[in-house]
Amino acid sequence: MQKICVFCGSSPGLLPDYLTAARELGAALVRHDLGLVYGGAHVGLMGEIANSVMQHGGEVIGVMPQSLIDREIAHRGLSELHVVQSMHERKAKMAELADGFIALPGGFGTLEELFEIVTWGQLGLHRKPFGLLNVNQFFDQLIGFLDFAVGQQFIRPQHREMILVDAEADRLLARFAAYEPPSVTKWIDRAES
Ligand code: AMP
Repeated sequence: MQKICVFCGSSPGLLPDYLTAARELGAALVRHDLGLVYGGAHVGLMGEIANSVMQHGGEVIGVMPQSLIDREIAHRGLSELHVVQSMHERKAKMAELADGFIALPGGFGTLEELFEIVTWGQLGLHRKPFGLLNVNQFFDQLIGFLDFAVGQQFIRPQHREMILVDAEADRLLARFAAYEPPSVTKWIDRAES
């Protein structure tokens, strides 16, 4: 693995723990010799992780639609900034550039970016690892809901298990290195499973 894409809030969140976790994940990426791919903003947790990676001497690649650059949300100090035409193109570019994906706490933007990667993974469109950095148990209720959806037979257990969950950045990255995607695709007939 060479680059990890991090999805995270464009807000800082309520607790200082979230900003601390973004800084620590940035430092961990550099320790593991991994570059950062992210949405390219200077605000919230996004700005915090980008600054942390830069301060520790790592590489940061931002991917941002022109419309957000026009609103002066872009981080101006990155190693590289890709300017794209739409939010859809941005997600595709981030997915192409990265070898794995981590979600930090965030809102709708973070969740939709994460779930697109999960969906592409369960369809076998990529074989890259993805996980949640469960800072301050932020994702516990989401994980509980996913387990409920497994129980209701809308999500296969093997696909639920693709989402690695850890409270420690170093441990999550070590699990990424050992990740094997499931062999079960979305499309096995229910009668066979
Ligand atoms: P959210 O979790 O709703 O704050 O959205 C954050 C995620 O969505 C980031 O990973 C970005 O790719 C994208 N995004 C949403 N709002 C913004 C914004 N104001 N500036 C930059 N990116 C944003």
